[in-house]
Amino acid sequence: MRAYNQDGIPYFQFEHFPENGRLQHAIFTRQGGVSPAPFDSLNLSLSVPDTKENVYKNRRLAYQLFDRRSETVVHAHLVHGTAVARVTHAQNGTWVHHVDGLITDEPGCALVMNYADCTPIFLYDPIHHAIGLGHAGWQGAVQNLPGALVQAMHAAFGSQPADLLAGIGPTIGACCYEVGEPVISAVQNAFPDAWETLLVTPKKPRPFSLGGRPHFDLPEANRLNLLRAGIPESHIHDTGFCTACRTDLFYSHRAERGKTGRFGTILMLGK
Ligand SMILES: [Zn+2]
Repeated sequence: MRAYNQDGIPYFQFEHFPENGRLQHAIFTRQGGVSPAPFDSLNLSLSVPDTKENVYKNRRLAYQLFDRRSETVVHAHLVHGTAVARVTHAQNGTWVHHVDGLITDEPGCALVMNYADCTPIFLYDPIHHAIGLGHAGWQGAVQNLPGALVQAMHAAFGSQPADLLAGIGPTIGACCYEVGEPVISAVQNAFPDAWETLLVTPKKPRPFSLGGRPHFDLPEANRLNLLRAGIPESHIHDTGFCTACRTDLFYSHRAERGKTGRFGTILMLGK
């Protein structure tokens, strides 16, 4: 990861995404914003009971680093499904409903999403100069949202999976993600050859766990989804951050028992 701090706002970038002037992206943290606890401080979502004033101010602070405003980015209203929307500047300032993936090949069209444990998925096609941003928690993993994102880019832009570069953002790790039913059965059904490696016995209990139940390796499940979609292993990088272990940096719905905010991501093609 490359780590930056611009105007008091820290953010991360994937090192394997080229700095070619045509691709811009960031994983924001929870730091650098104005919201009070438990949303401290760069909460970008109104799906939690933070104030509009704080969230709007935080969006301004974050997006202005990329010369964007809320009116010049495309938001998604996430629903834990596999629908993917192709968007253009026409969606600037709007919320695309009922999707967990956004794709575009329009320079300057900025995609943004918010998270607190679910997995951010970044895709870049350096041949066709197209991008995709996704959101995959356990439901997106077992329904294969990452694969749907790859297929949508292939259908829309002719992207070949072998060319795609993929990034897996901060997400709750196997260290912290205790699960019960229906997650266990869904993982067994979705990954019949791999579920034994995806449902693991925790090394040590976490304070927010009930104990005695398996832990789901969500980032690995999403990495498998990207591999199965045809993306070469060497093209897939994971930040390695567990949101529940790193509540100093990120929001975690599980570790903070729902009383938390949402950190943001942005992905766009330069003009
Ligand atoms: Zn963890």
